[in-house]
Amino acid sequence: NSRIVLASRPVGAPTQDNFRLETVTKPVPANGEVLLRSVYLSLDPYMRGRMSDAKSYADPVAVNDVMVGATVCQVAESNNPEFEIGEWVLAYTGWQDYCVSDGEGLLKLGKQPAAPSYALGIMGMPGFTAYMGLLDIGQPKPGDTLVVAAATGPVGATVGQIGKLKGCRVVGVAGGEKKCRYAKEVLGFDECIDHKADDFEQQLQAVCSNGIDVYFENVGGKVFDAVLPLLNTGARVPVCGLISQYNATSLPEGPDRMSMLMGTILVKRIRMQGFIIFDDYAHRYNEFAQDMTQWLSEDKIQYREHLVKGLDKAPESFIGLLEGKNFGKLVIQINQP
Ligand code: NDP
Repeated sequence: NSRIVLASRPVGAPTQDNFRLETVTKPVPANGEVLLRSVYLSLDPYMRGRMSDAKSYADPVAVNDVMVGATVCQVAESNNPEFEIGEWVLAYTGWQDYCVSDGEGLLKLGKQPAAPSYALGIMGMPGFTAYMGLLDIGQPKPGDTLVVAAATGPVGATVGQIGKLKGCRVVGVAGGEKKCRYAKEVLGFDECIDHKADDFEQQLQAVCSNGIDVYFENVGGKVFDAVLPLLNTGARVPVCGLISQYNATSLPEGPDRMSMLMGTILVKRIRMQGFIIFDDYAHRYNEFAQDMTQWLSEDKIQYREHLVKGLDKAPESFIGLLEGKNFGKLVIQINQP
């Protein structure tokens, strides 16, 4: 039974030294409990926040505690009449092989789900984030120009594809030519610009000649700097994530853009709103699940997973997620189904 704990808090980008792989005895379920064996572990950008003790919307992981994370598990032993051996559940057991649970908070996925790991991605937290952030805050209208970065990741890819279903012109921003080609050819985006290109700002401006009506904010930094002057009057900006800043140890280089930001918000009457998906929208999960199930069954939404085998690969994979090394939803297969 292996687990990965937070060995120390990172300063800047996390390194392998911030994590420690340990072998511990397998827990034994008490009366009323089940033993969960993790098959899939989700790696997500928010975990960088949990590694830090800066004040946030959720408590940090304590040093020497198991790294947190959503998992898709099978029930390996059951002393709880509600759960049968072999059935699948969505849980929050973190970076480890085994965990006991009293059943509280487990979401049943059935005995033979078609794609169990989808509960961590397109049918789970990232898909739900894309759906609510875009539809509730972004308020897309047919003909709007919608811009979204991290365009091939689980949130961005879903935002852009829902935008297309709602009649928007969709411009993605992604790292590298391969991801940009995928966004256009497979996801059906109208354009996708490489943020690593020297003339990124000019390229974005050229493909947004009618300005930007909805900017779904996933990354911040220089992408937002390029987007800000292109926002149209009445633009909506759902603020979902700022991944380019998660490893930052200081404020960005000057000049200070704060007054330009506030001036643009005022003069162009821009609505900018942050959200934390389950805190704000848990009560609307069924609405999302219904629409997404239908879109997937009609082949209207494409979904790409980046699957890595072995719990020991989790630290390097997570470090890579913050550098754009993943191509699709990053999932660690901890054990064989
Ligand atoms: P992704 O799988 O898309 O992974 C992150 C991607 O961000 C990388 O692959 C990379 O893509 C891009 N990226 C990393 N650094 C930079 C940078 N400096 N500049 C531009 N792009 C960068 O992640 P998710 O889809 O899971 O998450 C996307 C965003 O949504 C994150 O900011 C996350 O924190 C946020 N989020 C917020 C939630 C909420 O409730 N508010 C819930 C879930 C996610 P590329 O190579 O294309 O640049």
